[in-house]
Amino acid sequence: MTHDPVAVHPLVSPWGRFGLYSFFIDAPEPAIVDTGIASSPAEGMAPALEAIGRRVEDVRWILLTHGHIDHVGGAHALWELTGRRAQVVIHEADAPMLRSRRAHVEEYLAGRGRYLADPDGEAKVTAAANAVISGEMEPSLLVKGGETLSLGGDVTVSVHAIPGHTPGSVAYVVDGQRSVFTGDAVQVHGAANGFPGYTDPAAYRASLEHLRDEVRPRHLYLGHPYRRADGTPYGVELDATQAQEAITQSLDIEARVATAACACLAEGLRRTDSPYSPFAPAAEELGYTGDPTLEPSPFFTSMHGYRLRNQNS
Ligand SMILES: [Zn+2]
Ligand SMILES: [Zn+2]
Repeated sequence: MTHDPVAVHPLVSPWGRFGLYSFFIDAPEPAIVDTGIASSPAEGMAPALEAIGRRVEDVRWILLTHGHIDHVGGAHALWELTGRRAQVVIHEADAPMLRSRRAHVEEYLAGRGRYLADPDGEAKVTAAANAVISGEMEPSLLVKGGETLSLGGDVTVSVHAIPGHTPGSVAYVVDGQRSVFTGDAVQVHGAANGFPGYTDPAAYRASLEHLRDEVRPRHLYLGHPYRRADGTPYGVELDATQAQEAITQSLDIEARVATAACACLAEGLRRTDSPYSPFAPAAEELGYTGDPTLEPSPFFTSMHGYRLRNQNS
């Protein structure tokens, strides 16, 4: 039995209904995958690293799996704690979310916000972006997938494009030990909202198949404790068997959601008083009884994704 040469430590910071997970890669040039929100680096990461004999100022890589607020919110604050020495890495398609708070508002308005009919929606998302994003910044390194990053010694991390949850979602893979960090790209049944969220359903499926068949994680690290169909949560550190199960379940659930969404779209969308309007038949078919208005409204994000695909096909 050989040990993986590079240790990985989860770093957790609570945020409302969510547990935000970042991961410390204990390489010669240490890396942190995802950054939580503005308060996470000082309040969550620094003390957790101190407890394992590491220092936040020594971190040299900030690897962002995607541009959502709960993953990039702490990036600027963490970068400051490293004396601005860490390289900040993000996919080019999600880089606007690191550069600009307003990009988060635009994303809301173009997608889920169209269905929420909340007159204060734009103001709420603006306030959230102001509160939890520690600073707007230019990334040091834009990736597209296919790159290999050297973390010192013989430790390398390869970047895989896995779009779907967002256009610029990536997986970071510690080469040789198949430790894989996917952020929110393996949704299973969703996290606190109980529904999987993705902007592009076809890309989400293709990315899951890529993870299952090509990447084949030996260790899979997730951004939240995602739930199985029966509601019980996975942890955020999965072994090879659990990883295959979570990926397979994610594919099965997407197929069910697709069937319900397509039936609903084929009938023609109708506005009703239902909070799931105009996708109420799909919610009913799926037995989804969660509050679809709770941010980040994965129900409407995903339904809008099917609607766009339908329009484009
Ligand atoms: Zn996300
Ligand atoms: Zn997330």
